[in-house]
Amino acid sequence: MQKIGILGGGQLGKMLCLAAAPLDLQICVLDKDDSMPAANLCHTFVAGDFNNYDDVYNFGQLADILTIEIEHVNTAALLKLQKEGKNIHPAPEKLAIIQDKGLQKQHLRHHQLPTSDFGLFDCAEDIKNAIREKKIQYPFVQKLRTGGYDGKGVEVIRSAADVEKLMDGPSVVEDMVEIAMEIAVIACRNESGEIACFPAVEMEFHPTANLVEFLACPARISGIIEAEAESLATSVIESFDLCGLLAVELFLTKDNELLINEVAPRPHNSGHHTIDSCYTSQFQQHLRGILNLPLGSTKMKSPSVMINLLGESGYSGEVKYDGIADALSIEGVNIHLYGKQTTKPFRKMGHITVVGESIEKAKENAENAKNVLRVIS
Ligand code: ADP
Repeated sequence: MQKIGILGGGQLGKMLCLAAAPLDLQICVLDKDDSMPAANLCHTFVAGDFNNYDDVYNFGQLADILTIEIEHVNTAALLKLQKEGKNIHPAPEKLAIIQDKGLQKQHLRHHQLPTSDFGLFDCAEDIKNAIREKKIQYPFVQKLRTGGYDGKGVEVIRSAADVEKLMDGPSVVEDMVEIAMEIAVIACRNESGEIACFPAVEMEFHPTANLVEFLACPARISGIIEAEAESLATSVIESFDLCGLLAVELFLTKDNELLINEVAPRPHNSGHHTIDSCYTSQFQQHLRGILNLPLGSTKMKSPSVMINLLGESGYSGEVKYDGIADALSIEGVNIHLYGKQTTKPFRKMGHITVVGESIEKAKENAENAKNVLRVIS
């Protein structure tokens, strides 16, 4: 059996390891130290920095196929490994485009895929000049081209009073969209060109942390919008010619139009529920995609709601979970703790997926579970 190397040993890496076990796949993981969630679930753990050329290049020698669980990795080393014959998914030259929000937007525009209108700027001063010259109108959204995650590196500039919030650095400035709903569709492709999409999920955000709080599947959208979202996700994965997963985050606008917000070529937070609610989990699907195996059915076994378990505010340090037994006594509750040793406010420490006969029932039970299960120190 081929050896798979994963750059990154966080929770997504851990869940990839769990999905690899039934297929008896050999997994190696690279991450900073062996306290990482995936460290004791893989066959070989290598301590190193996935942003460092030498660490990635040396790690690549251990595996036949390389993949990622985080997109901010050293693509120069991956390109070299690819030239030397390693099979790498997502392809490093495509990953380099996706890593840079500016290049990603240009790719979408070039392929005539719908996304909000945008411009690229080198620094805050250039944006201020463009405002003065009336080349940019309020409100708009500024995003750092690299280094942002989970809403960090994103600023909404509503009026002149917000201009002081502008971040300095190469960034994308895009039109502010009037969002009716945020949804995500996870597509998967294999080398034979087979493509499958998971049903769209609906995201509800935490009002201050800017992290997804609830995620419901199926999304409460019409069949027409669902089909359009899946068709867009298919076009996007084809445009990048990727193997493995591509999570496509979409805005449904108040005018009932779908716009692509951003994409991630790896397992995604919005696909956690698939472990408990779909015929095939996103993690097994990713492995099938990168190994050119037949893709699994993406049908749902039941409606589901997912909640991130975030570190409670006011608690930092060695993590403790309070109320696990109470949460487990609620019907349909599946707890997934990532095994991170320390908590801090809003850190993603785990998630709960609740399956039920309906979204409403699952959401009610998810709310009950969230109220009893606390991440403290
Ligand atoms: P990240 O990569 O950090 O998740 P996103 O690009 O997804 O950043 O932006 C985070 C959130 O900011 C989105 O989920 C959405 O709520 C809001 N947002 C981003 N872009 C826009 C936009 N053009 N118009 C309105 N809201 C936006």
